[in-house]
Amino acid sequence: MHFSLPPLLYPYNALEPFIDARTMEIHHTKHHQAYITNLNNALDKAPEVDRTSLELLLANCHLIQDDALQAAIKNHGGGHANHSLFWQIMMPPSSIMPQGPVGKLASAIDAQYTSFEKMKEQMAANAQSVFGSGWSWLCLAQDEKLCLMKLPNQDSPLMYGYQPLLGIDVWEHAYYLKYQNKRVDYIAAWWNVVNWEFVSRRYEELIGQTW
Ligand code: MN
Repeated sequence: MHFSLPPLLYPYNALEPFIDARTMEIHHTKHHQAYITNLNNALDKAPEVDRTSLELLLANCHLIQDDALQAAIKNHGGGHANHSLFWQIMMPPSSIMPQGPVGKLASAIDAQYTSFEKMKEQMAANAQSVFGSGWSWLCLAQDEKLCLMKLPNQDSPLMYGYQPLLGIDVWEHAYYLKYQNKRVDYIAAWWNVVNWEFVSRRYEELIGQTW
């Protein structure tokens, strides 16, 4: 089985003015595609590795003995998983869609972080302080607590036993064309395109499951 690029569910210009069309197109067709191509190439040389589930492949990648293969799965498999989720947790800005978490996720965030605003501040501070390239994440831990984490490169929360709920890509390729060095402006803009309905539903689907 080969991994392939999932289609975007909205046009490249749909997140304007917050994320520009050119950035979206290059990010999806070049950067994301490159992770997939490199992952497939690495797995072609390792037919013994079970690739039926990307989630399990990432969760178990520390068990892979071959350092180069483990690094390829971590970097490119992580890149594929992270970006596949990233496209889904964004949507065209809309005044009729929720502007923050709803349902059980909203209650869980209030219980754990006092308020959505506080959670947002911490997640944004994590995003701003990633040194070099990486992501800021809101995750679900195995004990069903929420967890904010920042991870370097394309490390996936799945590699650490967490399920990603929401993540912001702070690699320069995600924002440099429009925002240049102003990562803080990109982060502030990004909240406008979060698909809270999707993220809230994902939380409800994941709680009560084991992974
Ligand atoms: Mn990216």
